[in-house]
Amino acid sequence: MKFDSVIIGGGLSALMCGIALQRNGISSAIISSGQSALHFSSGAMFLAKDRALLKEGHPLKGLSDKEFSSFQDEALDILQKAGISMHGASDSRHFILSPMGKLIPAWLSLEGYLSSDDATKIPYSNVLIANAENFLDFYTIFLIESLSSMGTKCKSIEFSLPDIEKKRENPTEMRSSNIARIFDKEENIMALAEILKREKGEAQCIILPAFLGFDTKNNAKRLEELCGVDIKVVGTLPPSVPGIQMQQSLRKYYESLGGEYLLGDQAVEAEIENGKVNWIKTKNHTDIAFKAKNYILATGSFFSQGIVALNGSVKEPLFGLDTAYCEKRGDWYTDNLLEGQPFEEFGVVTDANLKGLKDRQSIDNLYVVGSILAGHNAIKDGCGAGVAVLTALKVAHSISQEDERE
Ligand SMILES: Cc1cc2nc3c(=O)[nH]c(=O)nc-3n(C[C@H](O)[C@H](O)[C@H](O)COP(=O)(O)OP(=O)(O)OC[C@H]3O[C@@H](n4cnc5c(N)ncnc54)[C@H](O)[C@@H]3O)c2cc1C
Repeated sequence: MKFDSVIIGGGLSALMCGIALQRNGISSAIISSGQSALHFSSGAMFLAKDRALLKEGHPLKGLSDKEFSSFQDEALDILQKAGISMHGASDSRHFILSPMGKLIPAWLSLEGYLSSDDATKIPYSNVLIANAENFLDFYTIFLIESLSSMGTKCKSIEFSLPDIEKKRENPTEMRSSNIARIFDKEENIMALAEILKREKGEAQCIILPAFLGFDTKNNAKRLEELCGVDIKVVGTLPPSVPGIQMQQSLRKYYESLGGEYLLGDQAVEAEIENGKVNWIKTKNHTDIAFKAKNYILATGSFFSQGIVALNGSVKEPLFGLDTAYCEKRGDWYTDNLLEGQPFEEFGVVTDANLKGLKDRQSIDNLYVVGSILAGHNAIKDGCGAGVAVLTALKVAHSISQEDERE
C-alpha cells in the first residue's frame, strides 16, 4: 500500500496533520489502534499557560512567532470546516469552568461549555444546576461550593425521564455516553425542556452535564430556545461526549478530503535502513507493507502507549527512537502529587525539524508530533492541545514545502 505520507496515531495530532496534508494535496493514511486522549477531553484546548516561560527543549519553543500565530489560525479554520464550533480566538484568552468548579484558562473551548472572560467569576449571578438522578460522574456539590464563593446564587435539582429510569436499573449504564444517546431522541429533549421550564425560577442560566446528545450537537441551543434561558454544559468524568464528537468530526473531515483512516489497526513493525524508514507493517496487514515518502509518528504518550515505561528506561516501541527520561527510577516522581511529575516530560527526542532520532542520528523521512514529544508537561504547562496541534501543523507544512520544491 503506497501513500505520500503514512501517519501512525489517530488522535488530535494525527488528524490535524492528516487534514493539513490533504488540504495541500498530499495523500495520506492514518493507522489508528483506537481511543485517543480526545475521548477524555475536558472540552477545552490548552495552548500554553505562558509561552515566555516555556523551558528550552519544549516542543513549542522552536516555533517562530509567525508560525505560532499562523498555525493557530489554521487550526481554527480546520475546526470550523470540520463543523466544530469553538469559543475563543488566537489572540485572546478565556476561562472554562472545570468539573471541579475552577475557572481554567483556555485557548479554545467547545461551544456550549460554561466559560467566562473573567478569571474570578462567571457571567451569571443566579444559576440552576440540573443533573440526572443517580448520574455520579458530575460533581454538583463542588460546582455549588465554587460558584457560591464567586458570588453566584446556585440552586440544584435532579431530574429523571422514563428512558433514564431504564438505564438506572443497571448503575453501570449510567455513563455520559449512554445518557447522551437518550438525548438524541427529540421527545426526550422536549421532556427535559418541560422540566427545566418548570424549575428555572429566576435563574439566568441552567448548567447541565456535557451529555446532551451523541449524534446531535446543537441540543443546548435547542433547549435555550425552548426554555428561554441560557443553557451551558460542564464536563463530566470520562468518557467525554463532546471530545468523542470532536474526534468523529475531524475524522469525517479528513476522509472527505480523501484521507484513509484505518481504525482498529496497530503499527507493529518497521524497517529503517541508511537513516530512512523503508516500510511499516501492521497487525491486520502482516504480509503487505505500508510504504510512503514520509512517516509521521503521532502515537501519544504513556496513556496511548506511544511510549512505554520499562524497569529503568522508557522505550518508543515501534521504531526504537531515542527517548528522554531520568536514568534513576527514583527521580521519575516527586512526593508532592500537586507538583509537575518528571515522568510527564519523558518522551521521544527529535531534531529541530521534529525528525525522530535513532542513536542520535536524524531519520530523514520520520517526523514526530503531539504528546509523544519529550520536554513538555501538558498539565503543568497547560499546553496539551497546543503541542498536539502546532507540532502537527509544523510538520505538515515542512512536508508540503519539501513536496513543492521537488
Ligand atoms: C486523559 C487525558 C485527557 C486530556 N485532556 C486534555 C484537554 O482537555 N485539553 C487539552 O488541551 N489537552 C488534554 N490532554 C493532553 C493531550 O495529550 C492532547 O491534548 C492531545 O489530545 C494529544 O493528542 P495526540 O494525538 O498527541 O495523542 P493521543 O490522543 O494520545 O493519540 C494517540 C493515538 O495513537 C494511537 N496509537 C498508539 N500506538 C499506536 C500504534 N502502534 N499503531 C497505531 N496507533 C497507535 C492510540 O490508539 C491513539 O489513538 C489530555 C491528555 C490525557 C492523557
